Amino acid sequence: MLKAGFRGGIHPSGHKQATSGVAITRGPVPASLIVPMSQHLGAPCLPVVEKGDHVVRGQVIGTVEAFVSAPIHAPMSGVIAAIRPQVLVSGQRVSAVEITCDEDPDLDVFVRCELADSTAGAARSAGIVGMGGAAFPASVKLTPPHDMPVHTVILNGCECEPYLTCDHRVMLETPLEVIDGARLIRDAVGASRVVVGVEDNKPDAVAALRAATADDVEILSLRTSYPQGAEKQLIFAVLGAEVSHGKLPASTGALVHNVGTAVALARAVRERRPLIERVVTVTGRVVRPGNYLTVIGTSIGELISFAGGFSGEVGRVISGGPMTGMGVSDLSAPVVKGTSGIVVLGPGEVAPAVHGDQPCIRCGRCSDACPMMLQPFVLGIYANKRMWDQTQDHHALDCIECGCCSYVCPTSRPLVQLIRLAKHAQLERGE
Ligand code: SF4
Ligand code: SF4
Repeated sequence: MLKAGFRGGIHPSGHKQATSGVAITRGPVPASLIVPMSQHLGAPCLPVVEKGDHVVRGQVIGTVEAFVSAPIHAPMSGVIAAIRPQVLVSGQRVSAVEITCDEDPDLDVFVRCELADSTAGAARSAGIVGMGGAAFPASVKLTPPHDMPVHTVILNGCECEPYLTCDHRVMLETPLEVIDGARLIRDAVGASRVVVGVEDNKPDAVAALRAATADDVEILSLRTSYPQGAEKQLIFAVLGAEVSHGKLPASTGALVHNVGTAVALARAVRERRPLIERVVTVTGRVVRPGNYLTVIGTSIGELISFAGGFSGEVGRVISGGPMTGMGVSDLSAPVVKGTSGIVVLGPGEVAPAVHGDQPCIRCGRCSDACPMMLQPFVLGIYANKRMWDQTQDHHALDCIECGCCSYVCPTSRPLVQLIRLAKHAQLERGE
């Protein structure tokens, strides 16, 4: 059944053909890794190793007691070369463990996680976080509060971001594990219904998932529209339920997980496998675009080199997709658990830098495109003047930073950047 999506949204070119038909292959086997102690939302981990220690692939190297966190495991065996600060793609400066990897490693061998007595416990033990990019610890989402019961689990297989195809390949190549993960999540939270939502530009993934399940897991083909994979838009498409202003998506009784997270969870429960590698789409201006199974901590530069290097002049390297991803200023930054893709754009594919004083011609296109029914042009004007009371009145915190408004603006106003600024200012004021 094809479901209609949500209000607003846009239809950018997909640019997925370079990698959607290419099977997942193993990425580089690095000589060294940089493993940040914070790859998730929540409390950063503290290193439990010291310089000079030898660690084994899968061994815990960072942990913390906090509920909202996820331990970090050694992605490869080797010697701890240093524990030092590292700047992530996000600009965040965090503590990181540098590992000089053993020669000739056997990547089929790893230390298994501690035995857990629940699915949430296995998620915690394996360090699983949301792999769609949000990197929220999965164990927390698998432990919903008693006053917020979950009736429907939704697996997000939309992958609406242009260029990215890692989820598509995961659904095609490991549909049984997607379904296994879906059932594990359903049973862990006591939901009665589980749905996998997939955009209708991936009919082969829909077919593969349907062939892998009985009637207990619904595979729903959803209209291709950006940002169909955003949590609130996906809940609306599947349940017809809107998340009220100021409420959490969980208030609808739905719980959303990414399909890649479901696979990682199935492996944590069945094999006690820690999250030490992930599939990353490497595409755009590279010689061999593809989906590469990449060891966490591999540098972005090494991953691009493994894909054959740049295939032309480079305008920008993006971590994630072009709509919600972040520009990479230092190619030595590491791949982390939430890195879904590395996209290399040419100079002509990058919007020129603009400033907040670009004129607004009141065309209304940004409001039409906004899936959160905000008025981005109003928010942009107030944010540009640092009028935070007004941005609060116009619900800046409801912005999901999808970038639709900036995409459609004919005068290229940097709307999403301005609204992001307003959100930060409001959060700093404690709103
Ligand atoms: S205001 Fe926010 S939610 Fe609305 S289109 Fe712009 S970025 Fe997306
Ligand atoms: S799309 Fe741009 S020009 Fe049009 S109303 Fe929005 S901010 Fe103004």
